[in-house]
Amino acid sequence: MDRQSLQADGMIGPNALTQFRSPLEKQGGQDLFETLLQDARIASLPDMSGLIPEGPVARFHKTVRATLPDLSAEISRAAGVGTADYVLKHRVPGLAQTLLKVLPASVSKHLLANAISKNAWTFAGSGQFEIAGRTPLVFILKDNPLIAGERAGHPICHWHVAVFERLFQELIGSHVRVTETKCGACGADACRFEFNI
Ligand SMILES: [Zn+2]
Repeated sequence: MDRQSLQADGMIGPNALTQFRSPLEKQGGQDLFETLLQDARIASLPDMSGLIPEGPVARFHKTVRATLPDLSAEISRAAGVGTADYVLKHRVPGLAQTLLKVLPASVSKHLLANAISKNAWTFAGSGQFEIAGRTPLVFILKDNPLIAGERAGHPICHWHVAVFERLFQELIGSHVRVTETKCGACGADACRFEFNI
């Protein structure tokens, strides 16, 4: 299956689901994770070998937010950090990581942004990802499937923020911060992630 048809079918990387296991088990033990999976009507976890349908993943994120309103930001953030760590361990070749770390941030930030853009289909699903600015660096995600139908008074894409921030912190510099300044859940036409590098 090619990239376009995967995107049209709304597929996303399995980490968007599986990386919630560890932070949820830390909060409430294995029962909490299993209960939330059931509430989101997910019968089994993926085997990590390929992309998975975004619909159940979105239901799961929504269930976490609705069930644990005070903890969901922290948990989603931890799941995003776990996702980035998985990507660094399994998906980014060591040579590329070394290169990004030795190059000046003014150069490496663009290379990393380009690499993320190229692989956007793994975290954007059917949404449309775009590098909307270079200085400062800004990512935009339109029709983010993980918040489809959600309404909130403040940005809620903590998983995405953490994925981006952790990748940049590990490869560009520990000082990098990412803030979601606009969110589809707040009525914006796209989620907007601004980098402080
Ligand atoms: Zn958002």
